[in-house]
Amino acid sequence: MEIKRPVRVRFAPSPTGFMHLGNARTALFNWLFARHHGGEFILRIEDTDRERHTEAAVQVIYDSLKWMGLNWDGPVLRQSERLGIYHEIAERLIAEGKAYRCTCTREELEAKKEAMKATVNRTCYDRTCREKNLGPDCGTHVVRFKMPLEGESTFDDMVQGKITKRYADLDDFIMIRSDGMPTYQFAVVVDDLALKITHVIRGADHIDNTHDQIALYHALGEEPPVFGHAPRIDGLSKRKGSPSVEYYREELGLLPEGLNNYIVRLGWSHGNDEIFTTEQLIEYFDADAINQANGEFDEEKLKWVNEQQLRLVSLDKLAQHVLPIYEKHGVHLDHDEWLDKLLEMMRKRAHNLNEIVTDSLFVFRAPKSYDEASVSRHFGESTPDVLESLAAEISAVETWDEASIEAAFTRVAEMTGLKMGKIAQPARTAIVGIAQSPGIYEVVWFVGKDETIRRLQRAADFIRTR
Ligand code: GLU
Repeated sequence: MEIKRPVRVRFAPSPTGFMHLGNARTALFNWLFARHHGGEFILRIEDTDRERHTEAAVQVIYDSLKWMGLNWDGPVLRQSERLGIYHEIAERLIAEGKAYRCTCTREELEAKKEAMKATVNRTCYDRTCREKNLGPDCGTHVVRFKMPLEGESTFDDMVQGKITKRYADLDDFIMIRSDGMPTYQFAVVVDDLALKITHVIRGADHIDNTHDQIALYHALGEEPPVFGHAPRIDGLSKRKGSPSVEYYREELGLLPEGLNNYIVRLGWSHGNDEIFTTEQLIEYFDADAINQANGEFDEEKLKWVNEQQLRLVSLDKLAQHVLPIYEKHGVHLDHDEWLDKLLEMMRKRAHNLNEIVTDSLFVFRAPKSYDEASVSRHFGESTPDVLESLAAEISAVETWDEASIEAAFTRVAEMTGLKMGKIAQPARTAIVGIAQSPGIYEVVWFVGKDETIRRLQRAADFIRTR
């Protein structure tokens, strides 16, 4: 897309306590748009609903964005700190005859709405106070916008194309509530102007609001930003649990690259490509390639994309994400070559970060018990002798590398006349606790010589005494 001005976009969440995937995608679209065009990505917290918002909920936004790797530019703007500014601008619009005070009570408004429903099939404020010129001492009141009565509001949406609505169909919406708080509709325009936002990319549920907002820009004598409304994501409400970033991070152990790659494709495409590095996304992303059609959420696909990313990201990134998970399991590790080797082994098979960690805990701890199915398949009467021969051969290994470990297994196979599987599977069960693991020679290498011998002996004793 050709862009004239330096791009400044913003992500403007309300702190709800979790980062819904739809919001996460809006953040990602804006971040990619900014990074693609060499512009700035601003974070604004829409926290004017003081009763509902807590600082913990604000922290969730910071944490989710940081985890997703969506770094923002400059200071965070908090709407709750700007109440004076909203009042100043509302006063200015009242003085210019572009807004007015309204003292209609909630009950009166309800009654009017009901009456309207009976005659016309839409309900909006009947403009009782519009020409009353009520002053600041009129008692409890709201401030409303004086919507033009004639003409049309039109804008050229980057995604949806041209969208038009008659002013006559728009309401004299409330700018300041009776408790003095600004509405979203008003604050969003004041703030987007203050932040010099050039492009607003957000969910399609805001298309109708856009007409109100553009009317406000005109009343303020300002040029509106360019809008782009991304399609809905269907199927999110059907799934169990909360469709939030936190859920996918904690419960499913996804990589941020996996989640990002999946959600970006739920509303944007680049040919038939499915898997992108972050650098590729920055290079390819643009707002005019955002789809018009709704995306359909598919958790299985999300898991698949995540698996591809597990194999694609750098070992540094992988280490950064798994270290805290190991820590939670009581394993303290540093990032070194040994960990890189472990991650290389684990990421080939794992579906997510949690699995990388839980499936490799055997390296740090001997099994507390043996998997029953593995025991009944692989632990027989003669197994203790096989395990002990293996222990003896392993104890004789001089250079601790996979080739020597393999040679030890081969010697046992030759001595006993058993096929390799008949040695490897009992050995796996003895060392890991279950007959499923990465390659047995690698497993033994990681567990280490002394510990392997101990585990083989313990399993031999277990079989003999059961
Ligand atoms: N706080 C609004 C929301 O989360 C922001 C909408 C906008 O981007 O204008 O939906």
